[in-house]
Amino acid sequence: MDAATVDLAIEPRWIVPVQPAGLLADHALLVTGDRIVALLPVAEARARFRARSTVALPRHVLVPGLVNAHTHLAMALFRGIADDVPLQAWLERHIWPREARHVGPEFVFDGSLLAAAEMLRGGITCCQDMYFYPDAAARALRQAGMRGVLGIAVLEFATAYAADADAYLQTGLAARDAWRQEPLIGFSLAPHAPYTVADASFGKIVMYAEQLGLPVQTHLHETEREVAESLDRFGTRPLARLAGLAVPGPNFMAVHAVHMTDDDIATLARYGSHVVHCPSSNLKLASGVARVADMLRAGINVALGTDGAASNNRLDLFEEMRLAALLAKTRSGDASAVPAATALHMATLGGAAALGLAGEIGSLEAGKAADMAAVDLSAPENLPCYDPVSQLVYCASRHDVSHVWVAGRPVVEDGALLTVERAALASRARHWQERLA
Ligand SMILES: [Zn+2]
Repeated sequence: MDAATVDLAIEPRWIVPVQPAGLLADHALLVTGDRIVALLPVAEARARFRARSTVALPRHVLVPGLVNAHTHLAMALFRGIADDVPLQAWLERHIWPREARHVGPEFVFDGSLLAAAEMLRGGITCCQDMYFYPDAAARALRQAGMRGVLGIAVLEFATAYAADADAYLQTGLAARDAWRQEPLIGFSLAPHAPYTVADASFGKIVMYAEQLGLPVQTHLHETEREVAESLDRFGTRPLARLAGLAVPGPNFMAVHAVHMTDDDIATLARYGSHVVHCPSSNLKLASGVARVADMLRAGINVALGTDGAASNNRLDLFEEMRLAALLAKTRSGDASAVPAATALHMATLGGAAALGLAGEIGSLEAGKAADMAAVDLSAPENLPCYDPVSQLVYCASRHDVSHVWVAGRPVVEDGALLTVERAALASRARHWQERLA
């Protein structure tokens, strides 16, 4: 029998497919076009397939590309502009006035490109954005070669981008129409939060989500104040209000979900909704620590997000995986809560499932898109290596990521980004720093 030809064979020391669970040693992963063809023992792969190119990674573990399920891409340009400030003052004095003055398509393109460059170098191959000018963000992701779901932001108050909730919706839906043929770009509905979006707008969002088959993502129960104000204004907790408006369902993502009662958790579980846990942002803004172990026990799918770079300040899922595992142990008083494999699942297949992309990405399986990251575990700080999954979550950092592919295309090689020039990024960051400071 003649050997079949594939475009690419990757031969790492280990592969963690995430699904099925477990670890493969001395296996090859074969790619043709944008798809994974097979995962096989190296000897069998070499006998059955002829590869146009082979990448040998003898000190590396290959994992699915990480999925950042909540960020505000363009806010990368606000990184470090106002740290160590209480949440309300941070928003009212530092972020909102600058957004009003500076945010436009050029800002969003430059900020999103900077964010994409950072994330790809850290092994993140897909993100969910929530910001203004999604068309500019989509152009940046396309240039970087990154997969993304662009949230159609909805707010009641006017910005330079849109005058009212209907204008936000229509402008976002027009951007979605314009990008329908782009395979790496998807859209979701992203009402900012229950306290900034009216009942009538949530009604329209539910209608469009059903008609167009789109996921819905909103900030929810992030702070104690948000819950208290909702009780004052609406006589009900934010999640209960959304449930009354038919917002939660299997396509719904609650971002943060820090202040959750047992009833709140049961409600999300009953609707098959998802939580996007953003531990660094919750710590930095003193919002609290989410009950992740209880959510998982209730059967809720939990994904990970970095939130924006202004409240993190890293777009780094290695950091979020480690924090998610450590915080869950402390919060639940149980050192076995959120083991390493669970944290990795949250950063990969958990994120894919939340975004409605579990059939496409999030695990290394034949037929899925070839979104992958290779992590070099040979540095002294990663030795010895008894368990590569533990090492990934508790030891390794994004700086150990050596190679990244999105839909079969190499975008990072030996730690270097292939799609965007560093000097150009630095010059745009400097430009905006001078204007924003
Ligand atoms: Zn956010």
